[in-house]
Amino acid sequence: MFKLSKKIQSLPPYLFLEIDKAKRKARAAGRDIIDLGVGDPDQPTPAHIIEKLYSAAKDPATHRYALDQGMPVLRQAIADWYKNRFNVELNPETEILPLIGSKEGLAHFPLAFLNPGDYSLVPDPCYPPYKGGSILAGGRPYLMPLVEANDFLPDLKKIPLNIRRKAKLIYLNYPNNPTAAVAQGSFYEAALEFARKNKIIVISDLAYSEIAYDGYRPRSFLEIEGAKGAAIEFHSLSKTYNMTGWRIGWACGNAALIAALAKTKSNIDSGIFSAIQLAGIAALGGPQQHTKEMCRLYQERRDVLCGGLNALGWQVMPPKATFYLWLKIPAKSNSVKFSQLLLERADIVVTPGVGFGKYGEGYIRMALTVDKERIKEAVERLRKAV
Ligand SMILES: *Cc1c(COP(=O)(O)O)cnc(C)c1O
Repeated sequence: MFKLSKKIQSLPPYLFLEIDKAKRKARAAGRDIIDLGVGDPDQPTPAHIIEKLYSAAKDPATHRYALDQGMPVLRQAIADWYKNRFNVELNPETEILPLIGSKEGLAHFPLAFLNPGDYSLVPDPCYPPYKGGSILAGGRPYLMPLVEANDFLPDLKKIPLNIRRKAKLIYLNYPNNPTAAVAQGSFYEAALEFARKNKIIVISDLAYSEIAYDGYRPRSFLEIEGAKGAAIEFHSLSKTYNMTGWRIGWACGNAALIAALAKTKSNIDSGIFSAIQLAGIAALGGPQQHTKEMCRLYQERRDVLCGGLNALGWQVMPPKATFYLWLKIPAKSNSVKFSQLLLERADIVVTPGVGFGKYGEGYIRMALTVDKERIKEAVERLRKAV
């Protein structure tokens, strides 16, 4: 009776639904499920951030509509954090825009720049809002395969000329979800040159910059000389401070791109709850020790899981960043079947690679967001089951 719009109809199917359903069913049947599927930190938000939310929420001044460009003090805290972390200078008035989590910004940004028939260049596999946001804006995602042979970086030389001409945006995400790959400065330089030559806007998603191991420090795309002329970078408090449920992030970079996103969003939302903005300042400006401890914890889990899987003959390289393992599955299986098999035989939930795009087929993603003892148990179950 109600006919869905063409845009909604052309959104990629939500393949995780099947797995979710199977997981709920298994739990309801009383099975002890180890969930390595969700990319959501298991540890709580640091106490000083929660304390700030309490006190700020008691002040009636925080109860009204927030400024939709974010509080000036928050924008200043973000500028200070970027300067301190990446040595990148940002004008807090024109080059920073707080967001209700970076996901909404990543998904809304194409509305500001795509016309019907325009392309956005999206990696495949990828975080789903890059494709979804491009389609909802009336554009067409052009898939850039992320394959192991190219270190899970898009091969920009392979993008055909006719696509380059009609492309307005390119999404980059390093450290990467779901492949856990990282990018070197030389790739960023090549990407910037490609973007400038073809008049394409670079969208850099830096959600995992602080989740890294073995002394590796991810870089910002804005560190590349001249990047601010062509790029907008999205960042988030979600992974750095275990704040996924709070919904706070930001966009920063080129002032005209920031202004366009702000104009778009002024028609959609009315800003972030002020008490959460004040708590965000406490996060960015407060002690950073907690994030280091989180990385130590993830690193320990990573080593237990990689070590365990390698002992079973899986041949896993420990990732340098993110809390994911991107694992090749036997060639005769596929990622959905293999995920179902792990659930049936070992009570383990993983994410099938194809859920992130067709080039994710042949892989599964495991998240390091459960404690070490459960990871050991998962390895033991795999040893018995597979
Ligand atoms: C978790 C994640 C984000 C952050 O999303 P928020 O909306 O800020 O919580 C952004 N990009 C990727 C690739 C992610 O995995």
